[in-house]
Parts: sequence; structure tokens; C-alpha cells
Amino acid sequence: MAATGATAVIGRDGLAALITVLVAEGRTVVGPTVRDGAIVLDRLESADDLPSGWEAELDAGRYRLTPREDGAVFAHCAGPQSWKAFLHPQREHQWSARRGPDGTPVFTEAPPDDPAYAFLGVRPCDLRAIAIQDRVLAGGHYPDTGYQRRRRGALLIAVECTEPGATCFCVSTGGGPAADAGFDLVLTEVVDDDGHRFFVRVGSGHGERLLTAIPHREADLTTESVARGAVDAAREHMGRSLPPVDLRTLMGASLEAERWNDVASRCLTCANCTMVCPTCFCTTTEEVTDLTGDHTERWQRWDSCFDLDFSRLHGGPVRASARSRYRQWLTHKLSTWHDQFASGGCVGCGRCIAWCPAGIDLTEEAAALAAERDAAVGPAARRDGRTQQ
Ligand code: SF4
Ligand code: SF4
Repeated sequence: MAATGATAVIGRDGLAALITVLVAEGRTVVGPTVRDGAIVLDRLESADDLPSGWEAELDAGRYRLTPREDGAVFAHCAGPQSWKAFLHPQREHQWSARRGPDGTPVFTEAPPDDPAYAFLGVRPCDLRAIAIQDRVLAGGHYPDTGYQRRRRGALLIAVECTEPGATCFCVSTGGGPAADAGFDLVLTEVVDDDGHRFFVRVGSGHGERLLTAIPHREADLTTESVARGAVDAAREHMGRSLPPVDLRTLMGASLEAERWNDVASRCLTCANCTMVCPTCFCTTTEEVTDLTGDHTERWQRWDSCFDLDFSRLHGGPVRASARSRYRQWLTHKLSTWHDQFASGGCVGCGRCIAWCPAGIDLTEEAAALAAERDAAVGPAARRDGRTQQ
């Protein structure tokens, strides 16, 4: 029996067996697959659904899939979705009410309909994003009970990154391409002259159980050292980075920066960045009534600080301009999130950069704010180190 912290090697047959075992347990297995020219997260029935032989090219406002010959399964980086689409779904039924016989409303809570998830292919940045959403949505005095239920039942099978995308910058947010904690199993894919295989580390009792149920062999030194070397090399090849300054100080000093006008002239306030972000969590509620007035439902749905209605108070939005809405988003991510949740709100996945139709890049915006501050107060302000997460 493998123990937590144990290592092993599996082949493609082991990966296929892992999905088969999870499906046989009655789990809804979700992982990467190719659809509509992108690698999306969807239900997997077998290993045939995995994106074997595809990689993604990314840049600001750009995402393209390209084939590769080595058959690697996890050679892509973050796609347009994150796991929040499953743990914190875009729309969630809260309750219904109908008119009772005496005219008073009768309320019924929406019955839970939560699959037992197994997430396959969770990247280290997304493990950190899930940990952040755990604090936001499952911690505190008023937890989101639906999130708590789904999260409690979910198995996380992570995959370390060996080929970061051009929009990745997890290292400069305090993370990295290695998975440290929060997984049941973690795989590192190796494709070389010795074959196509996965170095496996066990992170929990569930992981131990799964490993013993699939074909595996003892980890050999060559596979382990190739896998660890590839992850170390990925750390040195991040596509981007945040500026090496104390971002909380920078954002606090930048409330009146000119740069907000510049970014506002490009930002479409479309909210794509918040939709794709794995840590953005804001929601609103809406009531849906039928035409007779006898039945109504309350739904929770994602909302965005880029939406004009999001800050509407007493007849008008508090943040009426694109300048104020982009400033709110970036300042929250990089600064005030620390005050609320004891960490930054950005894990450096790069999704908001790739999926912004205007190609707005928050690392570039943060660097421009730092340059503007330095021009105003002198380079002494740069001597403040960096404490992002
Ligand atoms: S930064 Fe880009 S993705 Fe975000 S609201 Fe503006 S245009 Fe849309
Ligand atoms: S702000 Fe952008 S880079 Fe940071 S976690 Fe959200 S989507 Fe990823």
C-alpha cells in the first residue's frame, strides 16, 4: 500500500486506468479535452477524451491550439475555464416559492444536486486558486454551503507544469510550476527516449487508495530526476512577471495615477477577465417569476465588478467610469485582497491576459504604475522589496 508522500511511476495505461477507476466509483471526472479550438474542462469518460498531442500558444488577447508529435497529454497551460465553473457554478438555483392555497408564499429550498467530482489535470496555480476560493467561499461566518458541499466531495489530481505559457507568471505571485499541497495525487508528465510516463506523488489517503488500484511501478531515479528537472526549468521560463515591488504599497500610492486613463481608453469593460479568473468570486441574485405570478425562483449567478450595475447604490453606480472599474479590479487583486483574505487574489495563471479581447495585460499595467510612481517620487520608492502573496 502506497503511503502519503510516496512516489511511483505510471504509464499511459495507468492514466487510463485512473479514469476508469474514478468513473467506476461513480465520480464525475472532469479534465482537459479539446473543443471549439481550445482546451476546455469537461466530463471525461475515458483517457481517449484527453488532449493528447496538443499544445496551446498564448499571448495577450491570443490563444491558438497547435498539434505536437510526442503525444503529450498535459503540454498545454491554463485554458479559458477554471475549476470554479464546477465548484462555484455560473448559475445556481437557491430556492423556489409558490402561492399557497390561502395566498401566502410557500418556500422550497433547491435540492442539492452535486456530483462527486474528480478533477484531473489541476495546475499548481489552480490549486492555489482553489485554496483562495476555499477561504473566500467556505470560510468566515457565512459560508456558501453549495460550494462547501461540492468542495468537500472533490478529489484533486494535479499536474505539474513543465511548459509554461507565454502568459504565465505564477512564480512572481509567490507560486510556481510545482504542486506543494492540496492534492490527492500529483502527476508530472515525462516524454523522452525511455517512453511516455508520469512521475506520481501521493498527497492523501484517497490518493493512496487510487494509486494501489491502478497499474504502477516503483519510481526510478531517472524518471524522478527528469520530472523534477523539467519542473525546475519551467520555473525559470515564465512568460511574464509582475514588477518586483511591494504591490500593496504600489496600489495604495496609485489611486490617482494617469495610467488608469490609459487602460480605460482600451478596456471594453466586457468582464471577460473576471469570468475567466479562477479566484474572482462575485455573484448577484436574480428572481425569475412566471407570467401567472404563482411561481418564482431565486438564482445566484456570477457577477463582475466591471458591470455598471455591480456598484449601483441609491440610483447610480459608485464606479461609473471604466477607469474606476479597472482600478477597482486590479487594486483588489493585488492589494486589498490581502486585507480581506490574508493573501493576494492573483495566482498568475494568465487567463485574464489571453482572454482579454483588448489584450490588456495586468503585469504590464502594474509595471506601468510602478514606472509612473517612480517618475513621480524617485527610485527610492523601489527599495521596498516585494511581498505579493
Ligand atoms: S481588461 Fe479586458 S477582459 Fe477585462 S473588462 Fe477590460 S477589455 Fe474586458
Ligand atoms: S487576475 Fe488574471 S492572472 Fe491573476 S488569477 Fe485572475 S485570471 Fe489569473
